[in-house]
Amino acid sequence: MKKRYDHIIKGGTILCMDASFTVLEDHFILIDDGKIVDILPVDVIRDYRADCVQDARNCLVIPALINAHSHLPMTYFRGLADDLPLDKWLGEYIWPLEAKMVTGDFVYDAALHGAAEMLKNGICLTNDMYFHCDKIAEAVTKAGMRAIVSYAIIERDPNTPHKSYEANMLALDEYCRDYPLVDCSFAPHAIYTCSKDLLKSAADFALKHDWLLHTHLSETRGELENCLKEHGKRPLDYLADLGWLEAKCLFAHGVWLSNEELKRLGKSRSAIAVCTDSNLKLASGFAPLKAMREQGVCYALGSDGVASNNNLDLLEELSTTSKLHKALNADPEFLPAREAFAHVSIEAAKALGKADSLGSLEKGKAADICIIDTTNLQSSPLYNPYSQLLYAMGSHQMRDVMVAGTYAVQDYRLTNLDEAELVDTANRYKSKILRELNIEKHTKP
Ligand SMILES: [Zn+2]
Repeated sequence: MKKRYDHIIKGGTILCMDASFTVLEDHFILIDDGKIVDILPVDVIRDYRADCVQDARNCLVIPALINAHSHLPMTYFRGLADDLPLDKWLGEYIWPLEAKMVTGDFVYDAALHGAAEMLKNGICLTNDMYFHCDKIAEAVTKAGMRAIVSYAIIERDPNTPHKSYEANMLALDEYCRDYPLVDCSFAPHAIYTCSKDLLKSAADFALKHDWLLHTHLSETRGELENCLKEHGKRPLDYLADLGWLEAKCLFAHGVWLSNEELKRLGKSRSAIAVCTDSNLKLASGFAPLKAMREQGVCYALGSDGVASNNNLDLLEELSTTSKLHKALNADPEFLPAREAFAHVSIEAAKALGKADSLGSLEKGKAADICIIDTTNLQSSPLYNPYSQLLYAMGSHQMRDVMVAGTYAVQDYRLTNLDEAELVDTANRYKSKILRELNIEKHTKP
């Protein structure tokens, strides 16, 4: 009796995103127990049986995307306060709103909405930073996606667990053991919201327990200038002197990093989450991508929260980033499509310390896979699949999205959630936010 596997994905153009950028035609992916068992030529398919066989003819089959920096539960703040500088946006709108609105229920509902949006855009994993991480773990699991969750530690903030960071982190880690798609990291929010003592103890903790550190760094010129004034050194140097670069770090933004800082970063295990849309919209600047590449800095793309983006669309983020940096460097050959795509797949997995299991379609790796139908006007004709992904296609074209061997999106529909219900819930929260905060005046066009 032949073994039955869970899934077969048959045909299509498979972009493996392995070390040699293998592209396969006339192959099928054999999946069992959440993992890719093998990728084989269709000639031998008759030797295999599976409970579910998905036809991927005329489709691109790609590794599901990885988002290196997000704040999932900010979904309900989308479009509430736009066209403002970062300090004003945070201080006058986002932080007061969060202090008043953010409860466990709010976080669960908003994270569910964010996870649904990410899944429909082909994202299988997000590296998140917020509050009530237990609720985020529950929400992403319900949606069927992966997350690395972390408390955004802002000292003196009522939502931050204060008494003992170490005990809280370990308790979260313990809690997340019941959620196999969820991991934890330690996330002091930024150098300007956390004390030196806390930042030092975070580095000590991360080294001791081999945890990822996640923070915002060098996002604005103001942050850089204040750091120079207060500490007499640049932001990365300040953290490095507190032991951060001995651990593995994910720095969101990295807009105002000097060449010397990048050199230091290139020699470390750490990475940058480039958040182009958020940086452009808040006019914070743009990450020095060319210098980052020259110094061998690992980087991935991040959406940031929707309150500053305002969507969770990594393909769009990638397209903007790629074109922006071609223009900035006056070089159309800068960051070709194939290389660019690595920064939402295999390079993103490396940035988060997950390259052993995620980021490419290879034997033994997790079955996190997107299938994109190309039989439509926007995708035709198709000469180069990478170019098509970057410059022509949109995330709305993701037909099926599999995470850990289970379809979270099938035939463009969420399999675990009711999209109409999510939209209704979002509108109920909108009314609540406006009523409780009496801020109608800010949202009138
Ligand atoms: Zn952020």
